Amino acid sequence: SLTIGIVGLPNVGKSTLFNALTKNDVLAANYPFATIEPNVGVVGVPDPRLATLAGIFGSQKLLPATVDFVDIAGIVRGASEGEGLGNKFLANIRESDAICQVIRAFKDENVVHVDGKVSPKDDIETINTELILADLQTIEKVLPRLVKESRIQKDKAVQVKAVEAVKAILEEGRTLFSAGITKDTEQGELLHDLHLLTTKPFLYVFNVDEDELADEDFKTEQRALVAPAEAIFLNAKLESELVELDDDEALELLQSVGQQEPGLATLAHVGFNTLGLQTYLTAGPKETRAWTIKKGATAPEAAGVIHTDFQKGFIKAEVISFADLVETGSVAEARSAGKARMEGKEYVMQDGDVVEFRFNV
Ligand code: GDP
Repeated sequence: SLTIGIVGLPNVGKSTLFNALTKNDVLAANYPFATIEPNVGVVGVPDPRLATLAGIFGSQKLLPATVDFVDIAGIVRGASEGEGLGNKFLANIRESDAICQVIRAFKDENVVHVDGKVSPKDDIETINTELILADLQTIEKVLPRLVKESRIQKDKAVQVKAVEAVKAILEEGRTLFSAGITKDTEQGELLHDLHLLTTKPFLYVFNVDEDELADEDFKTEQRALVAPAEAIFLNAKLESELVELDDDEALELLQSVGQQEPGLATLAHVGFNTLGLQTYLTAGPKETRAWTIKKGATAPEAAGVIHTDFQKGFIKAEVISFADLVETGSVAEARSAGKARMEGKEYVMQDGDVVEFRFNV
């Protein structure tokens, strides 16, 4: 599955946040015998539709979609030169599908900042610089070879051009993601073999003081620092308290700081989106479940997430939209109201589709 690597300078609240994430671990709740890596937190993506469906179908269990967060320790200035745990750090980032930087915005004299002052802008730059330098090193290693090859293989010239173009962007101190170059873009595909770090999607968690959680001006300012990446605002300490409380108490504590949902829930949603994922739903007396697919996945691809045999033997999918199912009240009623559609191999899955697959075994 796809993973989000959590990075950040020391003392910004990464461990505090990560501990809250692992306490919230859905694997522990739903799959008690699963082996869980110590540096991976598997977080459920809250989806109120699941409880509604479970009510309609009398499901015993609710299984939300999940996002995997990986704690990537060891960023220090000079990581790109192999300082500290630099090499391991970069290798771990290379394996992640998105990068989530935790940024300190909270003020607390008892917690030392590595650079002596709280400055989100500087922290973002510090991390970006290491990642950009690492990408430049990669490029400097491969570019001479590519240029040589392009003299014989003319089709390599396009790739040389793409690499030179991104080199210029990196030299300006910009990440490729912020310049709109990701692995899904045409340029990104030409760069695929280089495994550059800064083409990965970024998202940012601002670890803020409680009174900043509802400060819209402050948040607008910080958002501007990281756009086009998404920004999430939370208080890591508060999150670590919330996961210890039952639902009612947690809600009360949240409301006391002017929040609707825990920051971890927002993080799960935004992380899921940043990875380019969406869900479809299945429901029955045993369980109601959200399955994870890539945005734009077809019906057979969606079936393949449940079982490869479902994809191989795919015949069709009976699809009812969540809204129609709720409105009609049952599958039978939805069918007789003409709201159940039979979709074939070309069908592109929509968010909130409630599905039953028909397949040959
Ligand atoms: P890491 O080095 O980034 O993993 O940071 P830690 O999670 O270990 O946090 C460093 C210190 O900051 C610890 O003493 C935490 O208790 C404290 N800390 C973490 N989050 C917050 C926060 O939101 N507010 C305040 N005041 N302190 C925090």
